[in-house]
Amino acid sequence: TSAQPILSVNNIEVIYDHVILVLKGVSLTVPAGGIVALLGANGAGKTTTLKAVSNLLGAERGEVTKGSIVFKEEQVEALSPNDLVRRGCIQVMEGRHCFGHLTVEENLMTGAYTRKDGAGAVKADLEMVYDYFPRLRERRSSLAGYTSGGEQQMCAIGRALMSRPNMILLDEPSMGLAPQLVEEIFEIVKVLNEKEGVSFLLAEQNTNVALRYATYGYILEAGRIVLDGDAKALRENEDVKEFYLGVG
Ligand code: ATP
Repeated sequence: TSAQPILSVNNIEVIYDHVILVLKGVSLTVPAGGIVALLGANGAGKTTTLKAVSNLLGAERGEVTKGSIVFKEEQVEALSPNDLVRRGCIQVMEGRHCFGHLTVEENLMTGAYTRKDGAGAVKADLEMVYDYFPRLRERRSSLAGYTSGGEQQMCAIGRALMSRPNMILLDEPSMGLAPQLVEEIFEIVKVLNEKEGVSFLLAEQNTNVALRYATYGYILEAGRIVLDGDAKALRENEDVKEFYLGVG
């Protein structure tokens, strides 16, 4: 794609605990306004790649030991996760991580913590989130811990939206959800991409759904990108069909 990249990951290596080399030189690009899928089996390194970008590896004793990460033309490896959120890049973690003992609305409000533009703007964005996710409006006063898996995924994405991001790193949004809800979540990703201009890098094991919504994909195996291309080309690739789409 010829669009200006919003994110480029350049040949990064990630090591956990000083010895375990998990990413062995990963490069990828997300064009501004794109939806890019990072695909691969369990353990391939998808989560590690997203956490390297959002600088969340420290808590897991991981570090980027080689390469560079550029977001909106700025080198960002040394930024804190919060600084990156302020610049417009936020991760929605796998497993969703809503605060179960807070209400849905309180969860959404925690997403605005990096903002300094006042209560009025935040309130308006809360309404925007409820417009995109009518289910969250209905459940606004429920404790998040008592909502369904799909509602928790919506809550996690809604909370990310409250930081007014340009880019969302979405880790395994389909995990644990029934097929119909998976479609619902991906439809919302598409709408947010089109209407709000949010760029997405999404890590998925569900290759089928990811390649229907993404414009471009990368396939990660054991810490290396082994294949990348337009989503349509990947869907028609024989190896992808055999190993990732379950049709021989
Ligand atoms: P998943 O679908 O499980 O999220 P993934 O493709 O996202 O898989 P990662 O979670 O990035 O894969 O893990 C990649 C490799 O790094 C795995 O072999 C995993 O065991 C290892 N790994 C992950 N976190 C750590 C850690 N904190 N310390 C040591 N090794 C780790």
